Amino acid sequence: MLLDNQSGVNYDAIVIGSGISGLTISIILAKEGKKVALFERDKDIAPLIRPYQREGCGCSPGLHISGWMAQGDVIDSFFRYLNVTDGVEKGLVEKGLGRVIIGTNQYHIPNGFDNVEKSFLSYFPESAEAIHQYIRQVRKVNEESFYLNHQMAPNIKNIHELMSSDSYTLQEYLKQYNAPQELIDILGTLNNILVGSTADEIPFKVHALVLGGFYRSLGFFTIHGINRFLANSKRELTRLGVDLYLNSEIAEILIDNKQAMGVKTVKGDSYFASTVIASFNPKLLNSQVKCDMLRPIYRRRLEEAENTFGFYVAFYKIKLDQEFEDFTYFDRNSGTILGVTFNHSGDNKVLSAMLADYDQGFPINSEGKKGRAEEKLRLLENLLYDKMPILKGKAVLIDYLKPWSFERYTKTVNGSAYGIKQTYNTMGFQHRTPIHGLYLVGQAIYPGFLGSMISSFALACEFFDVNEFWPRVINQ
Ligand SMILES: Cc1cc2nc3c(=O)[nH]c(=O)nc-3n(C[C@H](O)[C@H](O)[C@H](O)COP(=O)(O)OP(=O)(O)OC[C@H]3O[C@@H](n4cnc5c(N)ncnc54)[C@H](O)[C@@H]3O)c2cc1C
Repeated sequence: MLLDNQSGVNYDAIVIGSGISGLTISIILAKEGKKVALFERDKDIAPLIRPYQREGCGCSPGLHISGWMAQGDVIDSFFRYLNVTDGVEKGLVEKGLGRVIIGTNQYHIPNGFDNVEKSFLSYFPESAEAIHQYIRQVRKVNEESFYLNHQMAPNIKNIHELMSSDSYTLQEYLKQYNAPQELIDILGTLNNILVGSTADEIPFKVHALVLGGFYRSLGFFTIHGINRFLANSKRELTRLGVDLYLNSEIAEILIDNKQAMGVKTVKGDSYFASTVIASFNPKLLNSQVKCDMLRPIYRRRLEEAENTFGFYVAFYKIKLDQEFEDFTYFDRNSGTILGVTFNHSGDNKVLSAMLADYDQGFPINSEGKKGRAEEKLRLLENLLYDKMPILKGKAVLIDYLKPWSFERYTKTVNGSAYGIKQTYNTMGFQHRTPIHGLYLVGQAIYPGFLGSMISSFALACEFFDVNEFWPRVINQ
């Protein structure tokens, strides 16, 4: 049986990776009475979302914005259940998703479903039916998910449906109502920058779940807020008796007769549990983490699974007092996509400009990498100043991350921003693997900060009686 301790086994569950999904599942299991060990290869927890300092400013590498950020929304419920809310500064982005720039055309995406609908109608009055149906269907998908709608009773079918593919893509849905290509490009661009797949790839349901949250209550954590959230998570791990092993890279998942038995670190130490949960990119199971007994067909699936693009991220300290609007730019001809967000770090304003990179083959030597990085930074800055001329001379570059920085420091394969690509043909993976007791969470299953949290709560819904567990989550 799941999570049953066996004789000679040290832990009920071992979690590999302390990103948002690993932290979430570790705290849940410990809170529900299980003895948990959490292993992280880095020197501290959550390297992908852990802010760091440059020139007196905090830079947030992998967490800029999220949907469902209002009081009482799902992130609030999750944080309260995990007991990590205290002192976590966050804000709602009153201006919504800001501007989407397609070539030379600009569109404003405000906050709130009704406002988004009105805004689209003002740009595409002749496509009222497509816009109305789109907003109606996004709302419906959100209302029918018990993760997001706390009025709904939970059921296990709903969990599995959430993780299964849809029968149509975003593009197919819009085309059946004769939506113009420009509208498809706007929604596809938002989807691409926020989820990592295009309008003709993304199952409508996944688009609706993610974008619905952004339309409803787009928000952000301040740099201090993210630091506080991570400090609170560490405190909860300690309070709940989770053994946290930092600087502890797992080299092997121990398996006996198709049953997970534990893990072995690169230093050669073994730890035992009949439940092992991997939160890293599942492709690592094929390359870096030895995992014998995976069937060839599953290995092939891992090999063939496509990662989302990586990001070149440039951070700037802004020497202007005014507030700015986030924007996303897409060039149809070159496929270039750039996202720009603003955050607060103490008294400073920090701009993060993220240029998507589809070329997953990195140059091998440092010369090649330097050349590629310089070329991308030139493109990024040309676009940034072209779209926001007011920033010329007022933005000071304080750090610049490349896809290979992410791969090196967080093991995100190819620097992939959102892990395994969610497409109509190849949805992310399921929690279960062909090895009994070996489960996946995080970037294998669902994209983004909230997706990682949902994937961990979804796994817990499989472990525990959902009718007892879920009310405990939402009624804190
Ligand atoms: C530039 C960028 C910007 C982003 N912006 C946003 C955003 O604004 N909003 C949003 O919602 N999402 C954003 N994302 C995505 C978001 O950061 C991720 O989806 C999320 O943090 C993934 O969390 P995770 O727990 O699944 O994976 P990870 O955080 O990658 O956790 C996996 C952990 O496993 C560890 N690990 C790997 N291998 C081993 C091993 N063998 N042994 C031990 N430990 C190991 C890694 O060090 C890592 O800490 C962004 C991503 C990037 C790259």
